[in-house]
Amino acid sequence: MRDFSLNHEALSLNTATVRKQWSLDRIIEECARRDIRAISPWRDQVALVGIDHIARQLRETGIKLSGYCRGGFFPAADKPGLQAALDDNRRAIDEAKLLNAPCLVLVVGSLPGALTGPPAYHDISRARSEVRDGIAASLEYARQVDMPLAIEPLHPMQAAERACINTLEQALDLCDELDPGRSGSLGVAVDLYHVWWDPKLAAQIVRAGADRLLAYHVCDWLAPTRDLLNDRGMMGDGIIELKKCRRWMEEAGFTGYSEVEIFSDTWWQKPGEYVLDTCIERHLTVV
Ligand code: ZN
Repeated sequence: MRDFSLNHEALSLNTATVRKQWSLDRIIEECARRDIRAISPWRDQVALVGIDHIARQLRETGIKLSGYCRGGFFPAADKPGLQAALDDNRRAIDEAKLLNAPCLVLVVGSLPGALTGPPAYHDISRARSEVRDGIAASLEYARQVDMPLAIEPLHPMQAAERACINTLEQALDLCDELDPGRSGSLGVAVDLYHVWWDPKLAAQIVRAGADRLLAYHVCDWLAPTRDLLNDRGMMGDGIIELKKCRRWMEEAGFTGYSEVEIFSDTWWQKPGEYVLDTCIERHLTVV
């Protein structure tokens, strides 16, 4: 297993971690100042500054992407809705390409409309089949332009609103179905916040193998957790066995970044400088 205590060259920052403190151009400056070598930005953050500006800034600082957030949200109430989702995913793939991302992360979606109110339907198997079809369609284009898609299973507490794929096993079943030849164009993003509890986690990481382990997201699970979305913990403050999980990843052949992704009303209230310095310190000690 890599020794993270030596330096933080394997640290990537998911830029949602300091989204409330800074705009993306400032985040990149602050990362460059601290020798953080990779980020995973969100589309809305990129759009606010302008994608050409961000692309230039990444070139100038030499900062790489560990992923691009995000595509997905495939299910919809009707045909035009399904098509709009596909169109939007195509734009996300183009943006990921322009920014040289190694993969586009997919939060696949679930019951349409559930994020903001009563959903258009309640049939989660229908949502799952629309997700399957949406990924299959997006994959054709993703392959043409060589942009791997990384399915991120989400904790089942978010199964209604954000993702009807909730375990690594489910995500990998879909990979097997849609990319049986393991071409490298479809894989998974393993976000420990979502999957740490899964009794099959270790076995499914082995099953995924290096060619399907496209991204690795870390934070911590606070006990008790007070908010379903925005109460993620800083690494070391919760109960996830971070080093054990990273060993599983690396034994399966993963050599990529350890991407810090913390949505937290607590951490969003702290100075961004302090958040980044703490991420580095915890990366060196507990990740
Ligand atoms: Zn994640």
